[in-house]
Amino acid sequence: MPEKTLFEKICDREIPATIVHEDDRCICFKDISPQAPIHYLVIPRKPIPRVAEASADDEAVLGHLLLIASKVARDEGFAENGFRLVINNGRDGGEAVPHLHVHLLAGRPLEWPPG
Ligand code: 5GP
Repeated sequence: MPEKTLFEKICDREIPATIVHEDDRCICFKDISPQAPIHYLVIPRKPIPRVAEASADDEAVLGHLLLIASKVARDEGFAENGFRLVINNGRDGGEAVPHLHVHLLAGRPLEWPPG
């Protein structure tokens, strides 16, 4: 059995996190080091390491992550002002935790391009 990723441990409640949504396929929780006034992570329960390693079988869960990010933004009342979704992939993409996650950032005007 491969060792659990940090985010699998959050899914399994072995590491605490402030969870704002969960269902049978994903959870959404507050980032421990927020880069904006609102910074959540939406992750699949399935430990897909990164989006480049997702397969055709993962198509539905990938769509689900985006729909849940959007639902959380609506439910928490910040969708109207706008938000940003980011997926870091691999070394140059800035991915530090090898468990696919969608960053949901909001609460201030976000600059473009990112650094
Ligand atoms: P990445 O750089 O891999 O795209 O993003 C990983 C994110 O996970 C970072 O924004 C980082 O702050 C967050 N993170 C790392 N460790 C923890 C943790 O133990 N708990 C929570 N809630 N977030 C974490």
